[in-house]
Amino acid sequence: MVVQNSPTSQSTPASLPPSVFTLPQTAQLEALYTIIRDKNTNRGDFLFYSDRIIRLLVEEGLNHLPVIPKTVETPTGATYEGVGFEGHICGVSILRAGEAMEAGLREVCRSVRIGKILIQRDEETAQPKLFYSKLPQDISQRYVLLLDPMLATGGSAMKAVEVIMEHGVPEERIIFINLISSPEGLRNFCSKYPALRVITGWIDQGLNEKSYIVPGLGDFGERR
Ligand code: URA
Repeated sequence: MVVQNSPTSQSTPASLPPSVFTLPQTAQLEALYTIIRDKNTNRGDFLFYSDRIIRLLVEEGLNHLPVIPKTVETPTGATYEGVGFEGHICGVSILRAGEAMEAGLREVCRSVRIGKILIQRDEETAQPKLFYSKLPQDISQRYVLLLDPMLATGGSAMKAVEVIMEHGVPEERIIFINLISSPEGLRNFCSKYPALRVITGWIDQGLNEKSYIVPGLGDFGERR
């Protein structure tokens, strides 16, 4: 029996933009992706295993927030010189698939505020168009974790960032979290927003003629 403990199917582009961070590409992570990519995986397992990946992504996103020195006293009477988070955060999900990532953020950040943005294709111009947004009123004072599971062409995500920045959030304070990216989506997104950090779980081969990510996992929203 051949035991493989490092993933082999990752097709990372030769040079990733410095603002892109992938999860550690371990065999365990690849096993989680193998389950959710399998068309025969039932809905219960898809929910369970995609939630596990979302949790890892949110934790990685939080690693990119600044901290400041913080000293506490422990129950032993000792002093511990540690750190505390600086600044407030909020989530913004891109409807509808991004809503699936909200619970993962709430598990990690209790009572976090979460805004929503709905973007759809404008049938006249074929461009992504804003249909609805509800954002925390003090969003300009916060770090924003932008949630959308699949970065395909990047059109919706770029439109969402435009909306968030119009509300006063600088690019450097937005962290975009997704499960799977296409290389072309990453290229588009990062050339428009080079200072915005992208945390992605996996970078796939590309897009098909319907702009689905391949190998991908199909329609994320439909499978949840
Ligand atoms: N959205 C999905 O759900 N899947 C893709 O492959 C691309 C966009």
